[in-house]
Parts: sequence; structure tokens; C-alpha cells
Amino acid sequence: MSIVVQKYGGTSVGDVDRMKRVADRVARTHRDGNQTVVVVSAMGKTTDDLVSMASRISERPPERELDILLTSGERISMSLLAMALHDRGVPAKSFTGSQAGIITDAVHGKARIIDMTPGRVQEALDQGSVVIVAGFSGVSQDTKDITTLGRGGSDTTAVALAAALGADVCEIYTDVDGVFTADPRIVPGAKKLDHVSYEEMLELAAQGAKVLMVRSVEFGRNHGVRIHVRSSFSYMAGTWVGPEEDKVEDAIISGVAHDTSEAKLTVQGVPDRPGVASRLFSTLAEEQVNVDMIVQNVSSEGRTDISFTMPRGEAGNARGVLEALADEIGAEGVRVDEDIAKVSLVGAGMKTHPGVAAKMFGALSAAGVNIEMISTSTIRVSVVVAKDDVETAVQAVHAVFGLGDDPLPEEVH
Ligand code: ADP
Ligand code: ASP
Ligand code: MG
Repeated sequence: MSIVVQKYGGTSVGDVDRMKRVADRVARTHRDGNQTVVVVSAMGKTTDDLVSMASRISERPPERELDILLTSGERISMSLLAMALHDRGVPAKSFTGSQAGIITDAVHGKARIIDMTPGRVQEALDQGSVVIVAGFSGVSQDTKDITTLGRGGSDTTAVALAAALGADVCEIYTDVDGVFTADPRIVPGAKKLDHVSYEEMLELAAQGAKVLMVRSVEFGRNHGVRIHVRSSFSYMAGTWVGPEEDKVEDAIISGVAHDTSEAKLTVQGVPDRPGVASRLFSTLAEEQVNVDMIVQNVSSEGRTDISFTMPRGEAGNARGVLEALADEIGAEGVRVDEDIAKVSLVGAGMKTHPGVAAKMFGALSAAGVNIEMISTSTIRVSVVVAKDDVETAVQAVHAVFGLGDDPLPEEVH
């Protein structure tokens, strides 16, 4: 018997009718003779609503309590789906992340999975049940407290379970037909990709293509689990995320990703001497701040500006930490810009094709978009632009590389 792991996102279980349709699909997978594990997200915007409720009750809700609150959304989905399956004559048991053996570190809100002990899941499967697991939650090995894996974390629950149970494939059911060359909500002419390599998907996800959480792709790559991203509203094949050698076509560029969730912080007038950058970024690391792009400007008169991007939600905290540090290291001040966005071009072919960055910058300039920061990897070029320019920037870059059916904007010709 083969093990199938399916994950259904928030929109796919958004209301009772959609939940029933998911139950029909799961029942069919079970009746086809598969041992079936289903990971569910909270219904619709439940998680957003819970976050907002917490912020209305308290300015800084304790992280431990916030995590317990957030996991309640997935509990609603898992138990309702189990009921719907019982109604269809399919035995089903739901488990929280903790019950399913998802063991994490103790970092609330963005816990990392450190071990998987899915004994109860396997036992229930062996008894012939469909197993439903709450997405996005786990339990800390040290504190025994309930943790969450970060927004979008149900993808990671699903791929980690597929890896631990030895499933070859993890199906991610969502509200689009697969992974596209850009977010189809911003670029209507974006094309669905048949195959994306783990490396490219890691870059796309890390740069904001939220169709998959980045950690889920890491699990897939590290454990050889192929991920099939597809629509829960049709039976069409979606996008396969797997090893590079699975790819048939050899496109230079896979897609454009954008991210509007970051802020840019600048520490101004930093004394330009050895050890200062190290001091600054180790202080941020101690505060668990995930720093993304870093730029240090040319120094003049022994002082320089250091800018970096980081998740906007944590910028207030980072500002406080840096203001205290600025005094100590003799820097002049800290500035926060919340109105930025990052646009990234990703493609394995960049390694061997010169001129990709130049073409991207040309498209941005022709569209009148100013570039504030640049960073690259071997298969990615990212720029920071003003938040108001993000759609124009994504469309211009997507068009200039001919990635979809969208016409080249007039000004880029
Ligand atoms: P789910 O609730 O199913 O996990 P998400 O909202 O997390 O769904 O992710 C799906 C969304 O990701 C799509 O609705 C789409 O707007 C967005 N998205 C961003 N970039 C891409 C891309 N390159 N391809 C497909 N979808 C993308
Ligand atoms: N419900 C959680 C969120 O909205 C986890 C997920 O959907 O993947 O982020
Ligand atoms: Mg998601």
C-alpha cells in the first residue's frame, strides 16, 4: 500500500461546502487503496482573525499564549474534516501536531522541526484510518509547550510527515493551479510551470512566492520527497517540485517573486572599524532577528551607513535593540523604512548566461522604478524598490524575459 500525504490550504477548506468537497477527494484517495494522511490549515482567514484578536487584547501578547491561540484554527478544520469523512463511511482520526509527533525547538511563532516521531499516525494508518493532522503546530522538546512553525507552516507539516512516513509524494492542494512564473494575482499572463527544481523553488519561496513555505521545500530536498502543488478545485496536474534532473525543459529563468513583508533598517554614521558589523549583527542574531539583504555604503570621514532588510513585524523590536547599541558603538542613529518591497528573478540558467541582471535593471529603469538595494545568488537577482512600485516592477521584469503571455509594457520596448 502506498502512503499519500495531502495538504489542503485555508481557501480549500474555507467554508463547510469546501470542506465537504475536500472530504470527497480524501475519501476517493482512501478508497483507491492508499494509506492517506491529510494535513489541514485553518479555515479561510481564521489565523489572521486570531492574530488580530490577540493584538486587540494585548499590545504584546505572550508568545506562548499566542501559539496556543493560533493552533486552535487548525483544530477546527481537523475535527470537522474527520466528521465529514465519518459521514462518508471512511474511518478517520484527527491529531494535533504534538500528537502526531512533530517535535520542534522552543522558538514560538517560527519553531523549527527537530525530530519527527509519528508513531500514532502510523498506528492509525495501519488500523485502516485516514489520518488528519493539524498543520503548522508542534511541541517543544525542551519546554513541552505548543509551538507554531510560522505563517504558511502547514506546507512544512505535510512535507515533513511525508518524509518521516517514507511517502514518495506530497500533494499540496491550494487555490491556484500550481507554481507560476509570477504571482498570478499580479501578473495575469503568468504561466504555470510543469516542473521546478528544489533549488529554484527554495529561492522563489524564500523571496516571497508564498505558494510553498521555504522550510517545506528544504524538507523535500533533504529527504527526496517530490512535491506536487495543485488546485483543490480541479483534477488537473499542477507543478512538480523535485530534483533538477526531473526537468524536461531548460528555461534560463523560472520566475519572478515579490515580497512586501519586509522593512529596511539603516544604522547611520557607524564608525568604520573592524568588529562593528560583527557586533551589530550578532546582537540581532541573539534577538532571533532574521536579517535578509545587507548593504554597507562607502565610508566617508571614517563613518558609514549599514542598511539591511528584515521581517517588518519585528522591526520595532530590532529598532529598540539597535538604538541602544548605536549609543554604545558611537553610531549616529537608526532609520526604519516600512514602505519597501523586494522583487527577485530566479532561474538556474543564470549560472551560465551573462547579462541577466543587466536586462532586469534595464526593464526596471524603463518602467521608471528606482532600485534601492541589490543582492544576488548564483541563481537569483533581487532588488529592493519602493512598495508602491512593486506591481509595476514585477510586471516589467516578467514581460522583458518573455515568461508568460503578457505583452511587453509600452515603456519597456
Ligand atoms: P494556501 O492557503 O493554500 O496555503 P497560500 O495563500 O499560502 O495558499 O498560497 C497560494 C497563493 O500564493 C496563491 O493564491 C498566489 O496568490 C500566491 N503566489 C505567489 N507567488 C506565486 C507563484 N509564483 N505561483 C503560484 N502562486 C503564487
Ligand atoms: N494557518 C496558518 C497560516 O495561515 C498555517 C497555514 O495555513 O499554512 O499561516
Ligand atoms: Mg500557504
